[in-house]
Amino acid sequence: MSSLSNFAGSDRLMKSFNVPVHYRSSLVSAIKQKRKAADKLKKDFTPTILEIGNLQVILARHFGFCYGVENAIEISFRAVAENPGKRIFLLGEMIHNPGVNADLLAMGVKFIMDTSGNMLMDWNELTADDIVIIPAFGTTLELEAKLRSLGIEPTKYETTCPFVEKVWNRAEKIGKDGYTIVVHGKPNHEETRATFSHSKANTPTVVVKDIKQTERLAMYITGHVPAEEFYTEFKGQYSEGFDVTLDLKRVGVVNQTTMLASETQGIADYLKQVMISHYNLTDSSISEHFADTRDTLCYATNDNQSAVQGMLETPADIAIVIGGYNSSNTSHLVELCEEKLPTYFIKDEHCLLSPNTIRHFDLHSYTEKETENFIPDAQPLRVMITSGASCPDALVERVIERLAEITGNEAPIEAIAESWSTAAQ
Ligand code: SF4
Repeated sequence: MSSLSNFAGSDRLMKSFNVPVHYRSSLVSAIKQKRKAADKLKKDFTPTILEIGNLQVILARHFGFCYGVENAIEISFRAVAENPGKRIFLLGEMIHNPGVNADLLAMGVKFIMDTSGNMLMDWNELTADDIVIIPAFGTTLELEAKLRSLGIEPTKYETTCPFVEKVWNRAEKIGKDGYTIVVHGKPNHEETRATFSHSKANTPTVVVKDIKQTERLAMYITGHVPAEEFYTEFKGQYSEGFDVTLDLKRVGVVNQTTMLASETQGIADYLKQVMISHYNLTDSSISEHFADTRDTLCYATNDNQSAVQGMLETPADIAIVIGGYNSSNTSHLVELCEEKLPTYFIKDEHCLLSPNTIRHFDLHSYTEKETENFIPDAQPLRVMITSGASCPDALVERVIERLAEITGNEAPIEAIAESWSTAAQ
């Protein structure tokens, strides 16, 4: 673990953050800085190509720590530095990266809940003297009230990402205009639970996890299934007092910031069409039943998904996606890659067990498994690499090094740093 004074600045356009240097990578920083300087308006989504002997690494244009994650890391490490001797708690995982969470645990920070919201300790164990950090996903109004009732001010070290707060503001505005909010998100994800809580404070709210569930919701909008079935089918996903016969007449969609862009678009377009045909709407009357707004994906989700789309235009043999297995934004990058080529979702370089074997997470069975002979017999071997918004660049560098090692292409990082070009060149 680096000392707290060992920090390096971020290169984000919006704001610089102090993040421990052991999360940074000289290789990745150099590439990102040069690419950013050459593409200030972020219009180029072609990947970076690293030539390492017979290994060609095809690196996505955008990946890794986003604004909200760097902000959360800076605040959390500051909370530790500013409060020696005090007990420090995180409401839940600060971000979905096991390495970063392990670093916080190693500094003595404790988790109050797991990622599903189950308590890991008793509320009564907290005192007004304790520090509680709110994670980047934000939290529910109910949990904020709970902390205040214990004499703990939740905003003191709050790391809620401003892009999540933007979704809450959008939901509030649409709600105040008389629409019910449909939240496209994973119902158990911390961010969706927080957005649901903030939204239902203003207006009836229901969560849909995918297009299939949206199609079921549409059946209640059109009255094709008995209203009372809604309460069983959407159990735990609607606000108290939700009246399915009244509250689905005017709807607006917001989403978890890390969903798949195409899926959210599909859901909003689908609900709009349902309203148009059910109420016989014209262009000028759509707004009577549907709040036509853009999705609430954050910039990092958009950039990273667009960069994967750009990367996938370059021929490759396999893809490796790095991130926490419970990371929503990372899992969508995996889904995009899986459509095109064999894809391995790994959490760190140790998953590259040998030249023959990779340990990786299977999104379909939700299990970690080992695959033999994952490296195809290709010359050169072309491997796409990207990572989620909560994955440190240092981890990406270590994966590249390990991949070079197991494929017999070991090279010093300085040499790799000089070997890159862009797919557009
Ligand atoms: S992925 Fe987006 S919403 Fe989530 S923390 Fe990063 S910038 Fe914020």
